[in-house]
Amino acid sequence: MGTFEVIEKYGDHEQVVFCHDKSVGLKAIIAIHDTTLGPALGGTRMWPYKTEDEALIDVLRLSKGMTYKASAAGLNLGGGKAVIIGDPKKDKTEGLFRAFGQFVNSLNGRYITAEDVGTSVVDMEYIFMESPWVTGIPKSFGGSGDPSPFTAHGVLMGIKAAAEFALNTKSLKGLNVAVQGLGHVGYYLVEYLAAEGAHIFIADIDQEKATTLKEKHTSQVTIVSPDKILSTPCDILAPCAMGAIINDKTLAELKTKVIAGGANNQLAEPRHGQNLKELGILYTPDYVINAGGLMNVFSELEGYHADRAMEKTKRVYENCMKVFEIAKKENCPTQSAADKLAEDRLKTMGQLRKRHPGKDARSFSTLKEVFNR
Ligand code: NAD
Repeated sequence: MGTFEVIEKYGDHEQVVFCHDKSVGLKAIIAIHDTTLGPALGGTRMWPYKTEDEALIDVLRLSKGMTYKASAAGLNLGGGKAVIIGDPKKDKTEGLFRAFGQFVNSLNGRYITAEDVGTSVVDMEYIFMESPWVTGIPKSFGGSGDPSPFTAHGVLMGIKAAAEFALNTKSLKGLNVAVQGLGHVGYYLVEYLAAEGAHIFIADIDQEKATTLKEKHTSQVTIVSPDKILSTPCDILAPCAMGAIINDKTLAELKTKVIAGGANNQLAEPRHGQNLKELGILYTPDYVINAGGLMNVFSELEGYHADRAMEKTKRVYENCMKVFEIAKKENCPTQSAADKLAEDRLKTMGQLRKRHPGKDARSFSTLKEVFNR
C-alpha cells in the first residue's frame, strides 16, 4: 500500500509530518489528527518499529485516539502523536531529540508533545531546548512532573461513578476492588481506595510492589497471584497494567460487576465491549477514565498549579456518568457511547468555530505567552 493510501485508511488526519535528519539518525513521524478543539497534544513514542508502515499506522491510530480522549475529557485540545523509529535502549542521543525538537518547533504550536512509551523526562528536556511546545517537563522547569497521581485520582472518580451507576452506592466503603498492576497508576490508586475504606485485592508480577502496599495497609489489602487477579470475585475490577486484558479467554473468567481501571486499550477488540454488555458487566471506557494525566498536562498550558490540576480530575466522574447515560439511552456498549460523546462535542464545537472564527479555541498566541517560560 502507498503512503497516502495508508494515511487515508487510518483516519481523516489534518497533517502528517515526516521528520528526517541523517546527521543524527532521526526518522520520526508527527501526526496531527484534528485541531478543532485546540492544539494537538500527544506524547512522543520511541520504538524499534520493524517497518516504516508499522510506525506510520501506529502514529495515525494513536493520534486519532488522542482526539477522542481530549474531546471526551472536555478539554480544549486536539489529537496528535509522534513516533521516533529507534531502540530507546540504544539509539538515544542529545542530537536526536534536539533535531526532533526542531521539527516540533517548526509546527509553531499546532502540535505539543509529551513523554510516552520509550521516552523520558530527560528527552523532553532536550526537546525543550529547541522548542517551547513540550509538556511533562520537570517541575524545576515549570512543568508538571509525573502525571500518575492525577491519572489515578481520575480513575478513582471513574470508579465512584461506576459504583453509583451499577451498584447504586455513593460510597466505596466495604466494596471489594481488585487492582491489576501496582506501577505508577496502580500504586496511587490503591492508596486512594484505602482512604475510601474499600477492601483491595492487589496483584503485580513484581511481588515487592504488592508486599510494600500490604505492609502499609495490612487489614484492607489482600495479595492475589497475578494469574488469579482477573478471576477474583469482586465488585470492581481495576486493570492498571497492560492492554488487551479483556479478550476471548478472560471474558469467561471474570467475576466482577464493574470494570474501571487506568490501563490503555483494555478491550482486545471492539466486539469485547458488546460481550461485556451482554454479561451485564459495566465497562468504564479506558480513554475516559484515564484522562486525569492529560487533564494535568493541560493545566501546564494554563500556567501550572497542582491543586487546580487535581481539582480538574474530578471531571472524570461526570464524564463517565455521561457515557453510562448515553449507553443506557442508546442501548449500546459503553465504548461506543464514549466515541459518541467525543464525536458530538467535536461536531458542536466545530460548528461554533465556523460561526465565530474570532473565538477560535486554538489560541496559539495566548499559549505562546504561557510557554514563554
Ligand atoms: P507502570 O509500568 O508503572 O506499571 C505497570 C505495572 O503493571 C508494573 O508494576 C508491572 O509490573 C505490572 N504488570 C505488568 N504485567 C502484569 C500482569 N500480567 N499482572 C500484574 N501486574 C502486571 O505503568 P503505569 O504508568 O502505572 O501505567 C499503567 C497503565 O495505565 C498502562 O496501560 C498505561 O498505558 C496506562 N496509563 C497510564 C497513565 C499514567 O499517567 N501513568 C496515563 C494514562 C494511561
